[in-house]
Amino acid sequence: MTLRVAVASIIQETNTFSPQPSAMDDFTSQGLWVGAAAAGRSEGTNTEIAGALARLAEEGVEGVAIVRAWAMSGGVLEEAALRHLRALLVDNLVAAGPVDALVLCLHGALTAAGEFDADAHLVEAARAALPPGVPVVVTHDLHANVTARVVAAADALIGFHTYPHVDQGDTGRRGADLALRLLRGGERIGTVLAKRPMLVPAESMAIADQPMRRLRALADAATAGPILDVSLFPVQPWLDVPELGFGVTVTHAGAPAAAAALADRLVGEAWAVRAEFAVDPVPVPDAIAGIEPGGGPVLLVQSADSPTSGATADSATVVAALLASRLRSLATVVDAPAVAACFASGAGGRVVTSVGATLDPRWSASARLSGVVTRTGDSPVVLTGDSMTGQPIAMGRWATVDTGTGLTVLVTERPAPTFDPAGYRHVGLEPADADVVVVRSATMYRAGFRGLYRRAVLLDLPGASTPRFDYLTFAHAPRPLYPLDGGDT
Ligand SMILES: [Zn+2]
Repeated sequence: MTLRVAVASIIQETNTFSPQPSAMDDFTSQGLWVGAAAAGRSEGTNTEIAGALARLAEEGVEGVAIVRAWAMSGGVLEEAALRHLRALLVDNLVAAGPVDALVLCLHGALTAAGEFDADAHLVEAARAALPPGVPVVVTHDLHANVTARVVAAADALIGFHTYPHVDQGDTGRRGADLALRLLRGGERIGTVLAKRPMLVPAESMAIADQPMRRLRALADAATAGPILDVSLFPVQPWLDVPELGFGVTVTHAGAPAAAAALADRLVGEAWAVRAEFAVDPVPVPDAIAGIEPGGGPVLLVQSADSPTSGATADSATVVAALLASRLRSLATVVDAPAVAACFASGAGGRVVTSVGATLDPRWSASARLSGVVTRTGDSPVVLTGDSMTGQPIAMGRWATVDTGTGLTVLVTERPAPTFDPAGYRHVGLEPADADVVVVRSATMYRAGFRGLYRRAVLLDLPGASTPRFDYLTFAHAPRPLYPLDGGDT
């Protein structure tokens, strides 16, 4: 009999420092698909669900798509939305009929009102809906806060090996392989977790850079024989939850003691080199003063207000600074009332409006935006870079405003994905023609803009996704927590 393996994907990353709660609308606006539509709409994209289904098909196994729900990172998920997502998963899993295994693709840093560990909640719900003994393999983003609870609920758990993340599809394939191995091998496959209470900036987590490069090399070297997978989870730091910390998982076939020793050794290595993760952000005036026109764009990395890190992307600080600079520059701001003003003027019309600080006014003032509306629209961007390739991202309604100072601003109702140049190109703006391009992204832009920029300058700014943890107040995270409470030596 042909094996049937279910694949489901419910992905959002929570930033508990965002003041904007996440709701079902954040998922439905990005395309929420169930059953065959989840498979059909995902096919050919660099996503976990597409990778898992493709791998199962190669193995002659029937892949049964259950649900694909994705939202841009954001604030804490509303309780009703978690209930709805859980029902989508469970109801469609039950409706799919008997399956031999489930590959469940989750971010791993989803927090809901009243439920710190929403990913574990979903794994437990799926487990409870399946007959006893049906294996559940979980995949996570590298920025997951992996907990003892989610590891206990899953038969095996693995994560991305890359950052910038370009192995979403490959991670789905590896998850499918593990599910098949669980079904076919008769081995006692399991995952162990080791953690340390430490936070490191996302800006210094790139796998190509030290110390992650060295840690990933150690993980790869150890992946042999009964050690099936080693995943590093340096955890995204804008997550005020219990059990927060740097995690390492080791998935093994019948070697729990060796796996536990390896996980502990690797997380111990991460702890030992924690000071190497420090970053040195540059004040905005200094960053702009250092830019000479010509020679390709300099990227101003506004990671402190990055939507892919769950911030609201409506800080106008950099927009205001660029207005005064006269540099040919491109920037984005989320501001629904400003978009409405642009639509009221229409393409070709003049607009004068305030922009920014409508969603999270704690970190910036609004700026005065005056210029010609060059384009308006409401179509989603389809990502073209190496990350989530082919996935559409809805920006809501959007408008571009040429300020006449050299700066053109893309104003959107929902965040524009500036980690990929498609975010600008989709609205008719060419990053290569600018002296300055603002990217609201910690590290993902390095994949999207590869070969397209002179240099990138990390900006020193407060915000819900700032690399400066001293701007943030943690109430639920375990203490002491590096670097908030010292522990530099
Ligand atoms: Zn991530």
